[in-house]
Amino acid sequence: MTHTNQLNDNTQTGYFGNFGGSFVPPSMQIALDKLTEAFEQYKEDPDFIKEYKRNLKEYVGRENPLTFASRLTQEYGGPKIYLKREDLNHTGAHKINNVMGQILLAKRMGTQRIIAETGAGQHGVATATACAMAGLECVIYMGIEDMRRQALNVFRMELLGATVVPVAKGQGRLKDAVDVALGDLIENVETTFYLLGSAVGPHPYPSIVKYFQSIISEESKRQILEKEGKLPAAVFAVVGGGSNAIGSFAHYIKEPAVQLIGIEPAEAATMAKGKIAELHGFKTLVLQDETGEPTPTYSIAAGLDYPGVGPEHSYLKESGRATYETVTKEEAMAAFKDLSALEGIIPALESAHAVAGVKKFAHRFSPEESIIVTISGRGDKDVAHVRELLESGEYDE
Ligand SMILES: *Cc1c(COP(=O)(O)O)cnc(C)c1O
Repeated sequence: MTHTNQLNDNTQTGYFGNFGGSFVPPSMQIALDKLTEAFEQYKEDPDFIKEYKRNLKEYVGRENPLTFASRLTQEYGGPKIYLKREDLNHTGAHKINNVMGQILLAKRMGTQRIIAETGAGQHGVATATACAMAGLECVIYMGIEDMRRQALNVFRMELLGATVVPVAKGQGRLKDAVDVALGDLIENVETTFYLLGSAVGPHPYPSIVKYFQSIISEESKRQILEKEGKLPAAVFAVVGGGSNAIGSFAHYIKEPAVQLIGIEPAEAATMAKGKIAELHGFKTLVLQDETGEPTPTYSIAAGLDYPGVGPEHSYLKESGRATYETVTKEEAMAAFKDLSALEGIIPALESAHAVAGVKKFAHRFSPEESIIVTISGRGDKDVAHVRELLESGEYDE
């Protein structure tokens, strides 16, 4: 059987050009079909949308501001820089937007048990938080090596009432936790909701995550029009799996005058160096070695350590609608210090990469133009790590 027709996004949902789709065992496909049906129903349901928006306002603290960064603008010497402040959300990053949406979906589907996997622990903490709020059982799979390095996040999840299950197989890392979590889902398909943390995975997850993260650009578009009376010249966001970036881009995709610029760490440059392949049940650009195995990545920002990227980003790159650039860890570290000292905002190390992208490419824009950069999270979680990195002397200028 040929899949040519299925690879066209006009004939089959779940594809973005040649990217996306769903390549999973039949037992899991049943769960994905059920999820697709529920999502198609609720995404248009006014009551569902109202409850989602109410939770964002009353619990997450949205809308968050679009802050004009006057001193950073002066320092970088180009366009007016606006910061979209996802760092001000409850739990400190954009991940909660998606988690709140999927938890609501799980409740409407009548599910009482949520499972998720986590590497650095950020998605696990956001999921455990929302489960506590909603009164749902929460099981988080985590590699033993990651548990050791992120002991404080393990403790946080436990405080929030979650069960953290150590995964010892393989290297005890994120990939191994994904395998075990998928096994759980296949075994408990009737009673369990798998809460995915980024714009990756088989259909319908990339579409679901985009839908819930689009609140970022829904707000920023309204805010920039209020402040500037015109659209920005560009939107910058960092790309790990691609959820904060796709949410930051969503409402501008059909505005061709707005450049969409994704920033990757040079140490995990999937968009720059990846080739099309199947990874974790979907097709996308993947960093691979000569034998086709996914290459391990080594970003200083744990949230960016993933050899693949959401399928829609692969498509936005291929179609030329968005561009993707890389910054080094040294550039990210310098931007981390800039935003802290010039604006009083300590960003997550992930978000510092987006700021570094602005610093590197601001010269493409004029002072009459404005640009938006998404600050995907706050840096409290990274301060101790940054201190160690700086004290190592490796980052001296
Ligand atoms: C997880 C994380 C990221 C990367 O994930 P995306 O899905 O690419 O958004 C970026 N910034 C922060 C603060 C994160 O916690």
